[in-house]
Amino acid sequence: MNEGAKPERDDARARAVRIKERALALGFHKVGIARAEPLLAERARLEDWVRRGFHATMRWMARDAERRTDPHQLLPSARSVIATALNYYTPHEHAADPTRGKISRYAWGDDYHLVIEEKLRALLSWIQNEWPGTQGKTCVDAQPAMDKAWAVRAGLGWIGKHSNLITREYGSWVFLGELILDLELEPDPPFAEDHCGTCTLCLEACPTRAIIEPRVVDAGRCISYATIELRSEEIPAEIACNLEGWLFGCDICQDVCPWNRFEQPTDEARFAPRGGQTALPLTEIVEMEHETYVEKFRHSAIKRAKLSGLKRTARALLAHNEQRDERRDES
Ligand code: SF4
Repeated sequence: MNEGAKPERDDARARAVRIKERALALGFHKVGIARAEPLLAERARLEDWVRRGFHATMRWMARDAERRTDPHQLLPSARSVIATALNYYTPHEHAADPTRGKISRYAWGDDYHLVIEEKLRALLSWIQNEWPGTQGKTCVDAQPAMDKAWAVRAGLGWIGKHSNLITREYGSWVFLGELILDLELEPDPPFAEDHCGTCTLCLEACPTRAIIEPRVVDAGRCISYATIELRSEEIPAEIACNLEGWLFGCDICQDVCPWNRFEQPTDEARFAPRGGQTALPLTEIVEMEHETYVEKFRHSAIKRAKLSGLKRTARALLAHNEQRDERRDES
């Protein structure tokens, strides 16, 4: 039987197999495929989250719910979504030195947007070479696509009670990215199980009680939001006294998760801590000149907080250290 005579379903399966092999060869650690359908249940959850005000000042989360949840808004001819995951775990510990501000693991290495975008573009270019005329759209966080929802639909893992995606093989230390295609591909079964069970470690460990119910995070209480996204002169007092040393982001809910005992060091060299640093000296941040900031954080996700945000959080951490030392002296 020649290639053209094969039933469409067999072609869709064969294409899916080859594309997944190629994605793994390009360095992705997990890959799955979902049909390009509107994410109706996820849209309802997003709208409810926004209605409850849990997006805080992130107004862009309240806009374009349809654009975020319908792949046809990004690629009108969309037929399939390839969901990818990239393990970013490196075997280093967070600093315990209070004079240094801790950085969330995801920002230790080079900016993942650049790394994933490069791999997705290489995958799209290979696909367009194999199946000329294929249209595709790459999505890495900045595009309004729902990474975690696509990862679940494509069978990569489930959403833990801390609201991050968890994979069996790598825990939650994964970056996600999608490639939307107008090519028909055999979809994978969605990940239907919830392996959190009765565990509530992440809800209990959060020092600001930001996980207000399983899979619902109030950004206004979250240390990650306050240290990265919040554009204000000061860190809100109820968060400032519970920062627990975090200068950029926070990994507490992921660090306590039992599924992260399956962590494996990544083979992506660009995720190794830049300059060997997993924390930054607080006084150095407070005194940092703009030119130094631009040079030091080129191609780093830390730029998201801006120098003004980093300085503000560093000041809050130093003030907290001072108060703690004063209390110690008094007792
Ligand atoms: S800590 Fe427990 S409840 Fe939270 S995501 Fe991990 S397994 Fe689920």
